[in-house]
Amino acid sequence: MTARVLVVDDIPANVRLLEVRLLAEYFEVLTATNGLDAIETCENGKVDVVLLDVMMPDMDGFEVCRRLKSDPATSHIPVVMITALDQVSDRVRGLEAGADDFLTKPVNDLQLMTRVKSLVRLKTLTDELRLRASTTRNIGIEELLSRNFTSEDTTPKVLLIDERKPSFERVQKMLRGSADLDIATDPHAGFFQAAETPYECVMISTAFADFDPLRLCSQLRSLDRTRFLPIILLAQEGEEERIIRGLELGINDYLMRPIDQQELTARLRTQVRRKRYNDQLRASVTQTIEMAVTDALTGLHNRRYLDSHLQTLFDRAVARRRPLSVMITDLDRFKTVNDTHGHDGGDDVLREFARRLRKNVRGIDLACRFGGEEFVVVMPDTDGAVAEKVAERIRAEIAQMPFAVGHAGETIEVTVSVGVSSVLKGLDSVAGLMKRADLALYEAKSAGRNRVVAKAA
Ligand code: GH3
Ligand code: MG
Ligand code: MG
Repeated sequence: MTARVLVVDDIPANVRLLEVRLLAEYFEVLTATNGLDAIETCENGKVDVVLLDVMMPDMDGFEVCRRLKSDPATSHIPVVMITALDQVSDRVRGLEAGADDFLTKPVNDLQLMTRVKSLVRLKTLTDELRLRASTTRNIGIEELLSRNFTSEDTTPKVLLIDERKPSFERVQKMLRGSADLDIATDPHAGFFQAAETPYECVMISTAFADFDPLRLCSQLRSLDRTRFLPIILLAQEGEEERIIRGLELGINDYLMRPIDQQELTARLRTQVRRKRYNDQLRASVTQTIEMAVTDALTGLHNRRYLDSHLQTLFDRAVARRRPLSVMITDLDRFKTVNDTHGHDGGDDVLREFARRLRKNVRGIDLACRFGGEEFVVVMPDTDGAVAEKVAERIRAEIAQMPFAVGHAGETIEVTVSVGVSSVLKGLDSVAGLMKRADLALYEAKSAGRNRVVAKAA
């Protein structure tokens, strides 16, 4: 795992110290000796993690962090605050400024690598989501990022897997009021419980008499439902090796016993906040992608979706020497529907048409609203003769039953004309296929409408 880390400290010797250790782990390192430079670097460069000294003249670390977190262009970059002393008040201020994590000087190597690696891993995930969002064309990344993700302060649901009573009772006491904590004393049962319950974090003790806690970590990481569930390991002094293995397996953080209450709540809070951010981002991306390829009026796929998938379906059919057909449908004299029943009446007809269309095609057929009152159905594994039959069935279904418009129980007769074409053996293209369907549709219209015309394959 490689990543670009920005080290910010007003004392060059401190910068150098961290830089050397990060370089040894093959991180790329950028440096800044004041807040403004740090912010500028974040705005311009591809920074994956910021290590930020709290005490700096001019602009202190809290202010730098606050500025980074309030700008949508930099708010997703994880910030680790480096405090001189293990000051609780600094941690609270840091959290308020939006810091993702803390390290105390002198910085311990294991802690440094843990925090950086864990944050880089999460950042990679966030970047992937952001990238996917930006590939959907119309609703772009700016729109997505300008959405304000509310990290509402509901009590997080947390699972602790720990078989030792004095230990889990201590954690229970520390988290009273700040987490809704469940305890599992059996690691196997704990695994299933984690998979079945929507926890926001799971804490795993390393102290099992006869079970390898890292097995549990790897199981949680390989299961789809728990892949993004934050894991915090509760370890003992001297277990550095195990923690490093855990990090390789994808645990997010660890705490050393004896556990400090401030540290426990701060780390838990950080994990939960990140998970919530990513969950919301993921949901938002999914929704954005769906919106970008769906026609709002009918719920069918839109033209953009057709454009991006037809070529794939075409190539697949050709490669497998399987037939493929398309039909273009166009409602007859639709303008008069609008003229007599208004635009809303027209919309009612379009919705109902889409419903009947969907009902008459198979799940693997791709039905899209091509625009206005034109719809396209792509039918894989379907030759021209079958496609013509399907088209005829749809034509009949539209003509036979009048459409309801408005609320007054009014109905209207609707007919549709359909053009059908199929992939030709030998040289053919998507453009040719669509062109032939369009010509067929034109013939159907010219021949009097309410009919199907197929271009022989
Ligand atoms: P033809 O039989 O030759 O297809 O005649 P037509 O009236 O259906 O053809 P034309 O393409 O001239 O008109 C299509 C009409 O569809 C014009 C437009 O106002 C209407 N239309 C396009 N999109 C929508 C929509 O989303 N809602 C409604 N209500 N009407 C729409
Ligand atoms: Mg038309
Ligand atoms: Mg029409």
